[in-house]
Amino acid sequence: MQLPGGLVENGTRRRDWAFRPLSGALELALAEAGERAASTPAAVTQALALALDRLGGEAATLPRVAGLCVGDRQFLMRELDRHLGHEGGWFQAECGQCGARFDFRIDYADLPVQEAGAGYPQAQVDMDGRQLRFRLPTGADQEMLADLPETEAPRWLLRQLADQPEALGTPRQDLIAAADAALDAIAPGIVLRVQTACPECGGGNEVELDPYRALARSSDSLLREVHQIATHYHWSEADILDLPRPRRQRYLQMIDRARGMAE
Ligand SMILES: [Zn+2]
Repeated sequence: MQLPGGLVENGTRRRDWAFRPLSGALELALAEAGERAASTPAAVTQALALALDRLGGEAATLPRVAGLCVGDRQFLMRELDRHLGHEGGWFQAECGQCGARFDFRIDYADLPVQEAGAGYPQAQVDMDGRQLRFRLPTGADQEMLADLPETEAPRWLLRQLADQPEALGTPRQDLIAAADAALDAIAPGIVLRVQTACPECGGGNEVELDPYRALARSSDSLLREVHQIATHYHWSEADILDLPRPRRQRYLQMIDRARGMAE
């Protein structure tokens, strides 16, 4: 599936992408990117640059990944979770009506993806008869936002996204709201909220789905697997991490079976 938005470079919109084949080395690098990055946007940029083999017909460098709009980055992070073998899974929620904690299942394949609207990646706002143009925020904008005080963020971001920031003066609250709405209308994106019924009281709940779950996968279980195989076969860490995941899993099963027979 193509990017719902796409990278616009030199006036051309490119929507193709491909991940690298999954190996233990890539899984470990992704887990460590999530554990070490300064902020979530920085972790997303690093994770996608590691995982993508190709983005818009070229190498997925850090600046190009950071230049993707937020919706495309969330789409790719959810696809990355699938690439890592998670087709969805169990999510936790707390009922807003009775307070019960409950689990619910989501298959990513069931969730629709919103394509970008006309004019992407820019939207136009009419302000007192003037036409102002704004572009969608990117990962690079998010990385810079992470360092700003929250009170300054909306005005800083509006200037950052404006075609002609000098025409804005001190942005008014209604202009910020109008630009937000216009950009929302053309933004591509994945589903970030679902409706689910509480199994205890039957009450309806709107629950958030974290688009960055792939970052939350810790390196612990992978390192435990490497340890098990290394102990049994005495192979090097690099050789074990080079194994495609299905083959690594088969060796782990064989070790389990051998252990079962020894007992
Ligand atoms: Zn409930």
